[in-house]
Amino acid sequence: MKHAGPAFSICVYCGSRPGADGSHITLARQVGRWIGAHGGQLVYGGGRSGLMGAVADAALEAGAPVIGIIPRALVEREHAHHGCTTLHVVDTMHERKRLMAEHANAFLALPGGIGTFEEFYETWTWRQLGYHDKPLGLLNHAGFYDQMLSFLQHTVRQGFMDEEQMRLIDVDTQATALLPRLVQAAGLPGPVDMRQI
Ligand code: AMP
Repeated sequence: MKHAGPAFSICVYCGSRPGADGSHITLARQVGRWIGAHGGQLVYGGGRSGLMGAVADAALEAGAPVIGIIPRALVEREHAHHGCTTLHVVDTMHERKRLMAEHANAFLALPGGIGTFEEFYETWTWRQLGYHDKPLGLLNHAGFYDQMLSFLQHTVRQGFMDEEQMRLIDVDTQATALLPRLVQAAGLPGPVDMRQI
């Protein structure tokens, strides 16, 4: 059977650094491989460094189309990945985020730093405002986000958020559990097992 285009498109937010614990790179590679092995497309920030480069390389190796979107000013600094299937070099960070969101059916945040947090929180706040209705996952790999999740629960107890907002994010410690849920929640037919095609 000929497969017409990707079965789904996931936008991954993650660190431009590898992190102190080598297991984060392993996780990023696992996510990239899963996307490729299930007929998906990766959308990401277009860099070659850190977790960003690892997820992109693994997705490409697994046969996934990879769309990288990077602001011109960061091409050097973040080592733009010229091996992407499509690399969009855009003028502003806003354009990057808008294009990433447009190209994706779902969003997933892996461990990262402030750039990752910013993207995660913006996607979450846009969801609560109804600017989009695409699922958003948080991969709490090796407890990386434990303290942030505790703080968010603290925020709920303090009356600045409610459980309804918490329910807008899907949190899991396991990539292989979270990824299919995100694809399903996006209302798509579901991940395809590429070995069957
Ligand atoms: P970091 O998690 O800090 O390593 O950054 C991960 C990615 O987020 C990098 O590609 C950064 O360019 C990107 N980033 C940094 N600031 C922002 C922002 N304000 N909006 C969107 N992405 C950002």
